[in-house]
Amino acid sequence: MLLMIPGPIEVSPAVIEAFSGPPPGHLAAHVIEAHGASISQMRQVWKASDDAQPFIVPGGGTLAMEMAVQNTVEPGDTVLVVNTGYFSDRIGEMAARRGATVEHVRAEVGEAPAVEAVARKLAELQPSVVFATHVDTSTGVRIDPAAICEIVRGSNALTVFDGVCATVGERFEMAEWGADVYLTASQKAIGLPPGLALMVASKDAMERRRALREPVPMALDWDQWLPIMQAYEDRRPSYFSTPATSHIVALDVGLKEILAEGIDAAFDRHQTVADAMRSAWSSFGLELLPGAGLAANTLSAVRYPDGVGPDLVGEVKARGVVVAGGLLPGWKPTYFRVGHMGYSATRSDHLVKTVRAVGDALIELGHPVDVDAGAGHIESVFA
Ligand SMILES: *Cc1c(COP(=O)(O)O)cnc(C)c1O
Repeated sequence: MLLMIPGPIEVSPAVIEAFSGPPPGHLAAHVIEAHGASISQMRQVWKASDDAQPFIVPGGGTLAMEMAVQNTVEPGDTVLVVNTGYFSDRIGEMAARRGATVEHVRAEVGEAPAVEAVARKLAELQPSVVFATHVDTSTGVRIDPAAICEIVRGSNALTVFDGVCATVGERFEMAEWGADVYLTASQKAIGLPPGLALMVASKDAMERRRALREPVPMALDWDQWLPIMQAYEDRRPSYFSTPATSHIVALDVGLKEILAEGIDAAFDRHQTVADAMRSAWSSFGLELLPGAGLAANTLSAVRYPDGVGPDLVGEVKARGVVVAGGLLPGWKPTYFRVGHMGYSATRSDHLVKTVRAVGDALIELGHPVDVDAGAGHIESVFA
């Protein structure tokens, strides 16, 4: 069975090998080395400056979001959410539970709020943090983080980007754009098994943490984790909470693979693959949920054609490929989602099998398509 959902995803043979076997202790020399090396490599993959601080914490994307919120927001703050769907709602809810006044700037489903609308809200509200979801996995919409950083620059607001479905698959220039937090989870585009919350915080974000008057929940506190990260980067072990040792060994291998390819090359590859997948869907007469120019490179959110519905997902699975249904409340029965990120975006066979499975399933459900033509769009970019 081929796993082509927007996370977890198929991972490379080297990552599988690094992840397998008995769990090593957190004081093992190779774990200390992998932990320290991963911290330094994250700065490169995130394109962050030397004074930015990476964090590797057991958990997932939701935990990374919570950590970012708890360390940058305190009760009484006003924050702004550039809302593109399900995960933007979630981070807004987290900030509200932290006691902030949360304002959203929204758009129609499949669209992204206009930069001018964000700029107006920014001037009106003077928020302390602006949150945005780089790729909203529920709709496949990608926002433009550079444009948001640009308008926030010069204000006192921090920018926090949820990159869970984007990091490594979509261009992100943390230092150049001046973003303050970029967070992800191991099981999405970064290409590892689920289990790690990963984020990099700018110097300004770390200073915001220190200026908070309200305590941060201990397990989520950057200041609690900071000495641990610093120790490991100096190749010394240090204990606060047991690191996910097997994951960290695999993380080091995964990051080395990404840097061997080159992070810019990885961005370009995801773009090429996504263009080919979109050509395949279009040749099947399918339309995307995201509006023009907003479709992410890490996944496709595709509308069911007339006469076809959520049964498609089961028909595709019967052909050996797992794709995902819709996620957005109210819209779930109208579209399906296909991940094309990380390792599978290096494998023409994975992508061709997926396109063929979707094509054959469409035929089965009474929507005739040219399966070979669809597959041809993938084959031609790998030729
Ligand atoms: C998957 C996802 C999350 C949540 O990650 P979990 O590991 O499932 O908690 C958050 N944001 C985005 C954009 C995601 O795609």
